[in-house]
Amino acid sequence: MTDHRVIAVEEHFTTRAYLERAHGLDFAPGDRTEVELTRAVESLEPTRSRLLDLDTRLAAMDAAGQDMALLSLNPPGVQPYAPADAAGLARDFNDELAQIVRDRPSRFGGLATVAPQAPEEAAAEIERAMGPLGLHGIMINSHTRGHYLDEPQFAPLLAAAEAHHAPVYLHPRVPSMLDQYSRYGMSGAIWGYAAEASLHAMRLILSGTLDRHPGLSIILGHLGEGIPYYLKRIDNRHAFAARTQGAATTMPHLELTPSDYFRRNFTITTSGIDDPDALDLALRAVGDSNIMFAIDAPYEDTAQSVAFLRTAPLTDTQRANISHNNAERVFGLT
Ligand code: MN
Repeated sequence: MTDHRVIAVEEHFTTRAYLERAHGLDFAPGDRTEVELTRAVESLEPTRSRLLDLDTRLAAMDAAGQDMALLSLNPPGVQPYAPADAAGLARDFNDELAQIVRDRPSRFGGLATVAPQAPEEAAAEIERAMGPLGLHGIMINSHTRGHYLDEPQFAPLLAAAEAHHAPVYLHPRVPSMLDQYSRYGMSGAIWGYAAEASLHAMRLILSGTLDRHPGLSIILGHLGEGIPYYLKRIDNRHAFAARTQGAATTMPHLELTPSDYFRRNFTITTSGIDDPDALDLALRAVGDSNIMFAIDAPYEDTAQSVAFLRTAPLTDTQRANISHNNAERVFGLT
């Protein structure tokens, strides 16, 4: 194969200054399970070093042939914290991230962190991130204290993302309906993350939010959190429900079909799914212009993920698009 540039777009890290402040803060009671688990993960080796040490990460990138990583704060980031604390944490973290990107612009890009629980501050931070800080978008770790971006209080955040061309990476976290996912280890990446992130994406689609913000660019990891598998059924059942129950439900009129929004406003990434059959389905569902490579480092293995990208059954054009062209277009990475 041609040696395509390799850009991975869901790559988590943190900083010592961030951990020192964040681990001392109070958080929303409903977020206790997730925050305590996150703090343990961020404090214990080897994950602590893998999150903090960018030189070791660069060595792993070099060994695997990965050119660039689009960095983001370790989930769930600032979203469990009180609004003023979260907004301040986000600004300081974004300053550090911007310096990392300025120091090594050919190796690192950055997705800013914002505090949705402080929507006006989040809007200002998006403008700062996409302007003076030179970052490439934002990451939102799904719900914020049980609230979702289709709710009206988040309109300023979405308007700023649209106005400043900030792609929004909608990353999973432990479901807001934690009770129903708390057994059998289901709340995390095995199932709860996809349930939570797909719920959030479907709320954005079915609420009409993307009629109000048609220019939003939203990224979903994990090959679209299951949605590509269901697109035909979603369209079919949405049309049926709109015909038969429209007046009796809270279903808003949509200008497009659900799958139209998914193909227009969303890009999906391969994070955590090294499965050629799932990738093939995703390609047929959304096309090779809407899929980007991601690893989900340090939680997935860099060498294994890059090997999958290099060997997956793709045409050269498909591999070039997934490997770098789409990330360059969506995030403005040059
Ligand atoms: Mn991730």
